[in-house]
Amino acid sequence: MFLSLKSIELTGFKSFGKKTELAFTSPIASIVGPNGSGKSNVAEGFRFVLGEQSMKSMRSKRGEDLIWGGSPALPRANRGAVRVVFDNSKRLLDLDFKEVTVERIVYRDGQNEYLLNGTVVRLKDVIRLLAGANIGGSGYQIISQGEADRILNASPRERREMVEDALGLKLYQHKKAESERKLEETGNNIEKTKSLRREIAPHLNFLRTQVEKIEKAREMKEELAVKLNEYLTRENAWITQEDARLRHEEQAQTHELKKLNESVSRIRSTKASGGSGALQELQTKLSEREGKLSEARRESEQLTRELGRAEGALEANTVTVEQIVPVPHVRQFARELSESVAEAEREDDISILKRRLGEVRERIKAFVEGLSGAAPETNEEVRQQVQSLAKSLERVRAQENALAEELEALRKKIAEAREAGFTAERDLVELESNVREAQAKLSGVQAARANIATLRTRFEEEVREGIALIGAEVHGWEKAEVPTGALLEEDRHAQEKRRREIERLKIKIEESGLGSGDTVVREFNQTKEREEFLAKELADLESSASKLEDIIAELEKTIDARFTEGLKHINEALKNFFSKLFGGGHAKLEVEEPRRKALRATSGAGPADDDELEDDDVPEEEELYAGLSIDVSLPRKKIRGLDVLSGGERALTSIALIFSMSQVNPPPFLILDETDAALDEANSKRYADMIKELGVKSQLIVITHNRATMAAAGELYGVTMGQDGVSKLLSVKLEEAEKVAK
Ligand code: ATP
Repeated sequence: MFLSLKSIELTGFKSFGKKTELAFTSPIASIVGPNGSGKSNVAEGFRFVLGEQSMKSMRSKRGEDLIWGGSPALPRANRGAVRVVFDNSKRLLDLDFKEVTVERIVYRDGQNEYLLNGTVVRLKDVIRLLAGANIGGSGYQIISQGEADRILNASPRERREMVEDALGLKLYQHKKAESERKLEETGNNIEKTKSLRREIAPHLNFLRTQVEKIEKAREMKEELAVKLNEYLTRENAWITQEDARLRHEEQAQTHELKKLNESVSRIRSTKASGGSGALQELQTKLSEREGKLSEARRESEQLTRELGRAEGALEANTVTVEQIVPVPHVRQFARELSESVAEAEREDDISILKRRLGEVRERIKAFVEGLSGAAPETNEEVRQQVQSLAKSLERVRAQENALAEELEALRKKIAEAREAGFTAERDLVELESNVREAQAKLSGVQAARANIATLRTRFEEEVREGIALIGAEVHGWEKAEVPTGALLEEDRHAQEKRRREIERLKIKIEESGLGSGDTVVREFNQTKEREEFLAKELADLESSASKLEDIIAELEKTIDARFTEGLKHINEALKNFFSKLFGGGHAKLEVEEPRRKALRATSGAGPADDDELEDDDVPEEEELYAGLSIDVSLPRKKIRGLDVLSGGERALTSIALIFSMSQVNPPPFLILDETDAALDEANSKRYADMIKELGVKSQLIVITHNRATMAAAGELYGVTMGQDGVSKLLSVKLEEAEKVAK
């Protein structure tokens, strides 16, 4: 038969102070020896190397207890090591080696070291590897001394574990446990990820609203840039045009005003110099002519009267000298006389004065002589006088008419001159009003120009502000197409409306107060990336959690199916072994109802059940665990159940059970430490038979004091302990073995 277990080597382990090796050559090896020689230490060596963690099951308190403690003959060891060699030519273990060595070393500080083919590995690597070959686990493969009925004493849950182990479900259980652990880890990670997302969420929301605001401000800035460009282009064009227009107007108005002022001063100077002087002259001339006219009239009247008298005298033919001396002649004489007297009066020289006076007397004498000599003598003379008078009158009248005409013309001229004066006055008044008007207009134009200058300053300020707010983009207005004609002629209100809109936008942008927001956007993107990463992570975790749940469910299904099937076969084998051992009767493994369920089912009985539950303080999973109970019925005995069995009966039942389990899914090897201790001779024989039967499928190492059992083994090892306290091993024959065993 193929032997999977090639050898075991104990060095410094417990009583094996020196390196001791057991090489297995037969399917059934029996270890024999006197009490306390170290046989059980060999079994524990197996436990140890296969990864046992319970110190108690190796009859120790600490790791140190497992190391050779020393004797007077041999000093204590620093480390205890056990090494087993498996034949892996049939790939019992999932390693690509023909032979696999598993070694465990314990040090005095309690540290353990595991090696696979000489390479240090973790405990779980060893456990997983062995589980794959149906080795290890609940330990039913190694039945320690006095523990034959462990399976009977075990709790339903432990019992079920043993059975599952025996059925080779350990690997699935491991996988399941691994998946459950991963699921739990995944669950924790899900929680962690969720909590991280929850932590990020408010910050992300805050950043999102900030970024939205920034985005809005950016849009507003874009809008502002467009509006500002149009506004500035228009404003610049309008200001430029308006400025040129006003400059022209100012020039024209200045010119106009200059002209008006010139006219005013011209009129004023004309009025001051010419106008009134000419009129004066005319009026002097007028009054002089009026004087002449009235003189002419008087003369004409005189002549008319003289003529009348002369004509009368002519008619009466009586004419006196007085009548014929013409008055003007007399008047002429008087005038000349008066002048000569006046001349004389001015003379201081008395002699000259006397001469003048002599002259005057001469003249008077001459005149008077003239009068007496010239007295008219006849009517003829009168007639001639009349004629002369008529002629004089005619002449004077003509003179009078001419004077009257001249006067008329003068008066007209004066009226005309007066009229001209009035017109000039009126013109001046009008001109002055025009001057005022022109001045007002000019001031208006100048004010408008000043206003344009203010607008230009405001425009420049607006450009600066725009640059500060949205940057150089603002300069776009310089390149934009300048509106002309009708476009520029639009109502100024429209531009004012634009300006107000721009102001409102500026305020809004300033109120948003976020600047360019680059850092916020960067932080938002980073946080968002992190959030997306976490969301993906969460999705991945949830997906793997769900996959793990599927795997677990699948494993549970497999475990369940195999367990049900395996249990059926175990019960069949149990039936056989049990009746063989007891000569009848029966035993059966039964799946319990999950404990909690069972409690619930009886919960109607009262609160006591609940108390019991609390007292037990059983974890919930265990409560729900469907354990295994054993139903035993011995032949010829009415009472059923484990409690009523004798020690031997318990041992037999356990053996039947262990053997049944091994039968169904034979483990590579089984180690039985004095499992037959409690059996009587008859049963020992049956036991030996069963050992043989079992040895066909599994390699057996049996520690025994029983001859029948020894006889069933293919090879025998004797363990002895000398004075040095060190266990020693020797291969023995059956006959020797009996001796050694004693
Ligand atoms: P029995 O037939 O009575 O069951 P056994 O052959 O199974 O006996 P063991 O129980 O294997 O004997 O060996 C017990 C012996 O091993 C004791 O003498 C004990 O002193 C010794 N021993 C146990 N641990 C150590 C240790 N760390 N160092 C030295 N000796 C030890």
